[in-house]
Amino acid sequence: MPPLVRKQILVQGVVQGVGFRPHVYKLAAEYSLSGWVKNDASGVTIEAEGPGPDVEAFIRDLAGRRPAAARVDSVVSRALPTAGDKKFIIAKSGGKALAVAIIPADLALCADCRRELSSPRNRRYLYPFTNCTNCGPRFTIVKSIPYDRPYTTMAGFKMCPECLREYGDPLDRRFHAQPNACPVCGPAVKLEAGGKNFAGPAALEAAAKLLIAGKIGALRSLGGFHLACRADDPSAIRKLRGAKRRPHKPFAVMAPSLAAVKKYCFISPAEAAALGSPEAPVVMLRRRPGKFKEPAPGLSRLGVMLPYTPLHAALFALLEKKGFSGPLLMTSGNFRDEPICKDGPDVRARLAGVAAFSLSHDRPIHNRCDDSVAFEACGELRLARRARGYVPSAVKLPAGGAAVLACGADLKNTFCLTRGTEAFLSQHIGDLAEPLNQAFFRETLANYRRLLKISPSVIAHDLHPDYASSAIARSLPGRKIAVQHHAAHALSVAAEYGLAGSFLGVAFDGTGYGTDGQIWGSEFLVFEKQTWRRAGHLKYFALPGGDIGALEIWRPALALVKAAYGPEWGAQAAGLFKAVPAAALHTVERMIDAGVNSPRTCSMGRLFDAFSFIAGVRTEATYEAQGPMELESLLPGPAAAPYAFGLCGGEDDLQIDPSPAVKAAAADRLAGKTPAYISARLHAGIIGVAASAAASIAKDAGLDTICLSGGVFQNRALLEGLTAALKESGFKVYSNLQVPANDGGLSLGQAWYALAGYRQA
Ligand code: ZN
Ligand code: ZN
Ligand code: FE
Repeated sequence: MPPLVRKQILVQGVVQGVGFRPHVYKLAAEYSLSGWVKNDASGVTIEAEGPGPDVEAFIRDLAGRRPAAARVDSVVSRALPTAGDKKFIIAKSGGKALAVAIIPADLALCADCRRELSSPRNRRYLYPFTNCTNCGPRFTIVKSIPYDRPYTTMAGFKMCPECLREYGDPLDRRFHAQPNACPVCGPAVKLEAGGKNFAGPAALEAAAKLLIAGKIGALRSLGGFHLACRADDPSAIRKLRGAKRRPHKPFAVMAPSLAAVKKYCFISPAEAAALGSPEAPVVMLRRRPGKFKEPAPGLSRLGVMLPYTPLHAALFALLEKKGFSGPLLMTSGNFRDEPICKDGPDVRARLAGVAAFSLSHDRPIHNRCDDSVAFEACGELRLARRARGYVPSAVKLPAGGAAVLACGADLKNTFCLTRGTEAFLSQHIGDLAEPLNQAFFRETLANYRRLLKISPSVIAHDLHPDYASSAIARSLPGRKIAVQHHAAHALSVAAEYGLAGSFLGVAFDGTGYGTDGQIWGSEFLVFEKQTWRRAGHLKYFALPGGDIGALEIWRPALALVKAAYGPEWGAQAAGLFKAVPAAALHTVERMIDAGVNSPRTCSMGRLFDAFSFIAGVRTEATYEAQGPMELESLLPGPAAAPYAFGLCGGEDDLQIDPSPAVKAAAADRLAGKTPAYISARLHAGIIGVAASAAASIAKDAGLDTICLSGGVFQNRALLEGLTAALKESGFKVYSNLQVPANDGGLSLGQAWYALAGYRQA
């Protein structure tokens, strides 16, 4: 027998609250090692004693066979003198464990729990609160640290002897599973429909029946309520859209299984992996022609998720038993831009008019949290909305410093708190123009500060003086740093990849306040030695009526057409505006001419809006970026030459002139060319001109690295096309993966701007 050795092993990463100690315990038993394992301030510490080769194999397997929800960043070991322990034990957590406690994110139902839930002989058969150390609620039920049952919303449920036995057994999958529960001792569902009440299994049965009958239900999930109905029932969907005042906005669906998803969507291996991951986001998939158009009218993509809670799984099992195997439409239970509803009074007050029934339960939601939304581009998974499953996991920063709070922007708001080199973004909060969301921001900030024990001394915020997020920042104590919107977008990429050197940031975006007081949104920014300067952008055009131009997209189109053709535009392009009432057209033309309520903009988002109008896709939008998303959905169009854009101005002020492209698109449209044809020429044209502008600026500034960010890069064709073109020219190209490229990732860039000490050159 080889000589005995003893090693101390430190494991760091996401290793607490995810079943790591039982994993270590089981491995130690497998290799017959003695010693102990415990949680402490820095992660998990182990002392293991046994024959040398066995200890080595044990160390290898710590990361190699880790639990699904764990992430191992490092495993460091050192030799100790042998101590002659008789057995391996799970020791009490070190007292310092509380100092840097980690709150795990919510985890989707695991395969083991799913099996138990669908086995009629299991004591958790169809039990909607089944969970274990590998799955279940975490962030949404945590009230305080440490992450232990008394500090969660499970505190009110006393475990029965059988659950307690599981909880205390190191070899059980439910060892220290804080939300552990069963039908005897745990939470229960209840259903309310037209004055009738059902509880437990009868409630689930009734919900399944009502859904199949075409009713809209409010379903309480992990982080809040969904509104749900059959995804194949146009009249139910119409009613839901009417109540939410969302005539076209894409809604996600929940499908019973991956096999079912394949029937209505094309799906890549990365997309399939994302759907089945512990984060279980909504994944934007390419819809098969003719399938489920109503949830996302006019778009080629459909947002799909799988049942991620045991409640969903039990509901879908019952639906299937009753003969319904289709997807359910599932959208956040809220109205327009308000926060998601989380409890009964919320639902009665706000959803009663829409939902024929509510399926709720008695496990309180402490932190409300929407579904996350992901999509694949350039072969990698990206986030359009970062919330459930991802928060409050930290993004690792290249360097640390004083604790910073970054307040984000007003649309798709998130905030970011830093602690050393960790950046904790909040879940998606939403549009801060809505006062309920400002309250949601403050409530979430208080929760984060308490859970993470962070007291920020520096407050970063958007440069826009009138943003609600800037006003919140001003109301908080600490040194304030105003950050230009697009500089923050570009730095969100640099922060993710740890890029410390010089680079070119290309931020294509809807709206951001510029240092000249204009509305920016197509910025080429040079970052050198902690400074930034603007080196290029789209030529300014008028935005008559300001923000309303994002919905009345014929307004920026009129401004661009007038700029392209001059005063005689009517003779050549009046035909484009036939659908716009003559009086409105006339008024807006006068506004542009007189410069009344017509801020100047170089927004790439508004440029795409205008082209979607010119292409004949639509006259007005009912949600932001509807036109551009429908335009992208027409790709790949027929092969056609790219539209030409002009490039003018000097080395430090390169300007992209859209006039030649506007004229060519108008001529195509008036000659009866299809929107798909115009879309193909437009995308190729913008990719081409953006690539040459970026290459020319980067070359002048001696840069070899380019970061792409901003909401317009959620356009997959644009992101993939520009990335490929720039890589072909020899540049290193980076874009957001861990945080959204839209304003949902802005707070990370703001925080990094403040931490790294950036300023305008
Ligand atoms: Zn589980
Ligand atoms: Zn129990
Ligand atoms: Fe933005």
